[in-house]
Amino acid sequence: MSAVYNFCAGPAMLPVPVMVKAQSEFLNWNNTGCSVMELSHRSKEFMAVATKAEADLRQLMSIPDNYKVLFCHGGGRGQFSAVPLNLLPANKSADYIITGSWSKAAANEAENFGLINKINVVEKVNGQRQIKDSSQWPLDKNAAYVHYCPNETVDGLELFDIPETHGVPLVADLSSTILSREIDVSKFALIYAGAQKNIGPSGLTIVIVREDLLGSADVKTPCIFNYQTEADNSSMYNTPPTYAWYLAGLVFEWLIDSGGVKAISSINKEKAQLLYQFVDNSKFYRNDIASQHRSLMNVPFWLVDESLNNAFLEQAKSAGLLALEGHRMVGGMRASIYNAMPIEGVQKLVNFMREFEKGNS
Ligand SMILES: *Cc1c(COP(=O)(O)O)cnc(C)c1O
Repeated sequence: MSAVYNFCAGPAMLPVPVMVKAQSEFLNWNNTGCSVMELSHRSKEFMAVATKAEADLRQLMSIPDNYKVLFCHGGGRGQFSAVPLNLLPANKSADYIITGSWSKAAANEAENFGLINKINVVEKVNGQRQIKDSSQWPLDKNAAYVHYCPNETVDGLELFDIPETHGVPLVADLSSTILSREIDVSKFALIYAGAQKNIGPSGLTIVIVREDLLGSADVKTPCIFNYQTEADNSSMYNTPPTYAWYLAGLVFEWLIDSGGVKAISSINKEKAQLLYQFVDNSKFYRNDIASQHRSLMNVPFWLVDESLNNAFLEQAKSAGLLALEGHRMVGGMRASIYNAMPIEGVQKLVNFMREFEKGNS
């Protein structure tokens, strides 16, 4: 079978070496005679897996010592509720920067728990979508926190500069950005990410939270969403998603062996550039996002003649290029090219797009 490349936005491709390793030790992990998913989360064997995964993530992201790393349930959307429950007191409001559908969803969920100030920062300039400079955002200096989503997975907009919030805690949804490029964790109060894009399988959520933000959760916060409870119990207050945690650990090892975040980020830039450049040089395909805000991970593009969409998707699938259909809210196509997507996959996609254009123009 020739290589199949899966461009799904999430759950996404996993690195092949990771799956090969997981498969090889699936039935008998580390000579225990058991699968790792059959081990008690409190056993010393699993604790070693858990500790190593955290240490490797800390190394990969240079996470400072005054941050806790939590391995939670509930996905990105779980954190849409957990963040206000933990960080938004009744006498304050929170600023939510809206750059697309995920940040909007986060704000809408947070409104169930407190006063939310939505700040739309997307503008159209010369027919291109872009994000207003963060120095012009009307932030409230008394806000409990500022929430934003650096990479909008659906819309394909990415903000590379970290906004300056003048001391107001900055909270970021890094579900589709984490580990794709270097970021300075110390600029953030809290980072969260569902695992199924750049970390591992679904079912695991990583939360990186500065210690001084623990301990102020609303009394009605469910215990499994209470950062203090999770931190005090090393993310094992209830049974954590152990197999996803183990697989995330394998992905972290793979990433370290591949040269870390810096090395993968230059490959990511190369992959994205290949695709955007091709689209820009074509009259058959288009992308309407300003070049400085184009996502490195999720590349939306449209066929100028949208009546060819189905043919494009069918032929792509036959060529081994899967899951290119755009999100139902924006239409068109979307190629998600997370860390696990090799550059060969993007080259193959571009070649396919060139041939499709030739055959249809
Ligand atoms: C995928 C995604 C989510 C949702 O994650 P779930 O784990 O499905 O809840 C949230 N935010 C962003 C930016 C995402 O890409």
